[in-house]
Amino acid sequence: MAPQKYVVVGAGPVGSLAALYAAKRGHDVEIYELRSDLRDPSTTPLNFTKSINLALSERGINAMRHAEQEKLIEDVTASTIPMRGRMIHGKRANGELYEEPQDYDIHGRTIFAIDRAGLNKRLLDNLEALPNVKFFFNHKLTGADFKKCKAWFEVRGQDTSSDRPAEVEVDFDFMIGADGAHSAVRYHLMKYTRMDYQQEYIDTLWCEFQINPREVPGESSEKDLNAKFRISPNHLHIWPGKQFMFIAIPSDDGSFTCTLFMPGSEYTKLEKDSSQLPQFFDEHFPGVTSLIDPAELISSFDENPHLPLISIKCRPYHFSSSVVILGDAAHAMVPFYGQGMNAGLEDVRILFATLDKHSAADESNNPTDPSGAADPAFQRGLALAEYSALRVVDAHAINDLALQNYVEMRASVLSPAYRLRKFLEEL
Ligand code: FAD
Repeated sequence: MAPQKYVVVGAGPVGSLAALYAAKRGHDVEIYELRSDLRDPSTTPLNFTKSINLALSERGINAMRHAEQEKLIEDVTASTIPMRGRMIHGKRANGELYEEPQDYDIHGRTIFAIDRAGLNKRLLDNLEALPNVKFFFNHKLTGADFKKCKAWFEVRGQDTSSDRPAEVEVDFDFMIGADGAHSAVRYHLMKYTRMDYQQEYIDTLWCEFQINPREVPGESSEKDLNAKFRISPNHLHIWPGKQFMFIAIPSDDGSFTCTLFMPGSEYTKLEKDSSQLPQFFDEHFPGVTSLIDPAELISSFDENPHLPLISIKCRPYHFSSSVVILGDAAHAMVPFYGQGMNAGLEDVRILFATLDKHSAADESNNPTDPSGAADPAFQRGLALAEYSALRVVDAHAINDLALQNYVEMRASVLSPAYRLRKFLEEL
């Protein structure tokens, strides 16, 4: 197929992988990102205080494997930590603290803890190595015409004499919108297609905390690294609290990134007097104040943002042959199933498999075409319609599972029925 101009909006994990897939197919790829390059140490990570640790699963790894970029998987997984299951923390009636491991898989297969920014940087490094990819950081999509295949970007941080920020017009054959939950591509797409759209903020906010590594003199061997972890490095730790939940995910420096999920009304109460926080934690998340210094607990709560969680469903994901939305732009979900990014990476694999299938089918149907090339826009239009129909069903199902898993993680893991079911499964 003749190379086409692919414009990818958003250089998050999903946009970066989509750009990689497109570049490997020989297209001219331009990737536009609102923020500055996240590999630049002065860049503030989107929404996050530092970065967040995510659970990377086979769904996401498989999508990166199919990028056919040598060493990508090696690069990405170099700093991951396998998590074989949950570790439930609690307190018995007699006041004794306990930890209870619950493996994810009887065959010992694991998911992996990964730093979101680290993963994103490795994807960008791999992209940069390809000659047919151009980056445009500090470019915010402000408008798009999907019939004329034109888009407009505000160029940020430019020193212009005019009051209005500089704007550039960009032509494209195909736009991939991977610009996150508040997607501008989706907003403009809605004007071109009859999109069903549903969004829901759940009554839970999240805030980030940190369990620091233990001081270990002479940190050279793997044994020393393991000694740095204050709790098991190979589990996703959960302190269930019925209405609340505190979780901790390991990082490769021996620390844990922790998240407090709690209804907005509880945040409001504690915001009024955050000195109550250590006592609140002792009551609901026993043992945490021995892992995080109470003063640090309070300062993290006071300084880190208290962020909402949104769940978005929409359909279709495309218009004609000119645009598709992927990742959180198409299906932002609550994080309790650990699949938001994984599902977004999977979107990329399925999208390109569908594009490849239509491209191959069309070429074989036109063997006598003297130019040897079928109409790429026509093929792409068929592929996008198929992709939307196929993917909407799965994405909506994962969204629902993610919402359901909140109840599972914060409460059902403790119930006698859960324990009985697990016991019977293991017989
Ligand atoms: P984003 O990561 O949001 O990236 C979008 C990019 O587009 C950004 O770089 C942004 O700057 C850029 N952009 C936005 N607007 C514009 C514009 N107008 N013009 C140009 N660029 C623009 N997922 C998992 O798989 N596993 C987990 O364990 C997990 N845990 C999570 C925990 C929490 C607390 C949260 C909040 C989320 C979690 N997720 C998890 C979800 C995961 O973070 C997202 O699904 C993932 O980041 C989505 O990637 P994306 O590339 O689609 O969008």
